[in-house]
Formats: sequence, C-alpha cells, structure tokens
Amino acid sequence: MIKRLTRITCRQAHVLLSERMDRPLSPLGRYRLYLHLKACDLCSRVDRQFDLMRRAVRRLGE
Ligand SMILES: [Zn+2]
Repeated sequence: MIKRLTRITCRQAHVLLSERMDRPLSPLGRYRLYLHLKACDLCSRVDRQFDLMRRAVRRLGE
C-alpha cells in the first residue's frame, strides 16, 4: 500500500521536477520524486538537467 502511494509515473516526476524549480516540494513530493529518480534513468537525467539550469539561473541572479 505504501508502495502504491509513493510510486509515480515519469509524467508525474516531470511535474514535480518543474515545480521544484519554482518552490520547495512537500516532504511527500520530495520522497516520491527521490524514489522515482532512484528507479528511473531517464528521469534522473532530466533531474540533472534541471539541476544545471537551477545553477545557471542562480549564477545569473548574482
Ligand atoms: Zn521516470
């Protein structure tokens, strides 16, 4: 049951990743995303790209 609650699709993972660009995720959202990224190569690549973008945006703001 817990597994079903925490398992998300790639689509949902992408939504969480882009939400994370704007505001911090809820603990449950973060946990779900973390579990998904651990299991999914594709989304962990997307996660790295978002991370690079966040860093670039932060540098622009300085
Ligand atoms: Zn995925």
